[in-house]
Amino acid sequence: MALIVQKYGGSSVANAQRVANVAKRIIETYQQGNQVVVILSAQGDTTDDLIEKAGEISKNPSKREMDMLLSSGEQISVALMAMAIAEQGFQAISLTGQQVGIHTDNVHSHARIEEVAADRVRKELDFGKIVIVAGFQGMNDNGDITTLGRGGSDTTAVALAAALEADLCEIYTDVDGVYTADPRIVANARKLKDVSFDEMLELASLGARVLHNRSVELAKKYNVNLVVRSSLNQNEGTLVKEVTDLEKMMIKGVAYDKDIARISVMAVRDIPGVAHKIFSLLADADINVDIILQSIGRGDTKDISFTISRSQLTDTVDLINRNLEYIGAKEVSFTHDVAKISIVGAGMANHPGVAATMFKALAEADINIHMISTSEIKISCLVHSDEVEKAVEAIHESFELGTK
Ligand code: ADP
Ligand code: ASP
Ligand code: MG
Repeated sequence: MALIVQKYGGSSVANAQRVANVAKRIIETYQQGNQVVVILSAQGDTTDDLIEKAGEISKNPSKREMDMLLSSGEQISVALMAMAIAEQGFQAISLTGQQVGIHTDNVHSHARIEEVAADRVRKELDFGKIVIVAGFQGMNDNGDITTLGRGGSDTTAVALAAALEADLCEIYTDVDGVYTADPRIVANARKLKDVSFDEMLELASLGARVLHNRSVELAKKYNVNLVVRSSLNQNEGTLVKEVTDLEKMMIKGVAYDKDIARISVMAVRDIPGVAHKIFSLLADADINVDIILQSIGRGDTKDISFTISRSQLTDTVDLINRNLEYIGAKEVSFTHDVAKISIVGAGMANHPGVAATMFKALAEADINIHMISTSEIKISCLVHSDEVEKAVEAIHESFELGTK
């Protein structure tokens, strides 16, 4: 008897008919003689709708109360699914993150799972039940509800699969697997048969939202057998695993991220310690910095630019403005009309000319590059947000990643 963990995303359970369909799939897996644990997201746009509701009440609601609010979406899904399975004559039980024993740290809205006490789930499985668990949520040391960040249900699924030592963790979504680019933007994007943990982690962190990046991190750490598939058909999906086939593609995919803003601290003095001052201020305020660019000094000043998540723009600008004198800077400028385009591939380290190909594609599409950052397995460029789709298509084409 195998233990299978399945996660279904919001679109897969968006309405009563889809819930009934998914219930059928779950029951089929159960009838094949497996123990089945299912993790669900909130239905359709529920999470976005709840965020909007909060906005009608408060411009700056407390994160604790936001977690209380948003976690309710997943609670609806699991209750409905347990009912749908019972309706088809099988035994299921729904559980919240708290009931399962998903312990997190105390960072509301972006909590990290610290421990999963899976005994309740095991007990229900031993009773022969199908266990339906609310994704995206956990509980901190105070017993308060926390959430894991947008897309976090994937992470609940992988964490449970690891804790239960499941034989397989299937992530069911609205596309057939992981593609060379977002298939909604690039019509001829190709489905990958497999992708390595490291490549998938980069793709996810760089904006390919098909998997939550933390879920990939956990899958790698605990060597979880992970597959991404569609809930709407029986197609094979994409395997996420330690290493991929020897016949390596140099570039595995193109990702983009629009949740970005750029800040420039202008005319700082060209002396030691300035960068240290700026970035320790940011670190102390829990602001995550991504790409950093320092201009060559003019006279005795230079500019320092960096990117952050768009949601932290106002806080960051306020922080720098309050500290202009301390930093020794003249002014701060910012824009959120930027986006990050990245290529990812473990094979690129051994191939010269990869960056040149990417820059050529952008040049020929007449797209200006604002910033560049590279690592062993990725290259990212900051471009104007209006040009993202065009950039993704041009780069995807230039590396011949698509189907013919
Ligand atoms: P779910 O609600 O099932 O969690 P998400 O919307 O979070 O689904 O993730 C699936 C979406 O990710 C797809 O609909 C697709 O538009 C997007 N996506 C972005 N990049 C990729 C990629 N490289 N491969 C597949 N899907 C991608
Ligand atoms: N419902 C949450 C969200 O929309 C979590 C998830 O779907 O994974 O982000
Ligand atoms: Mg998702």
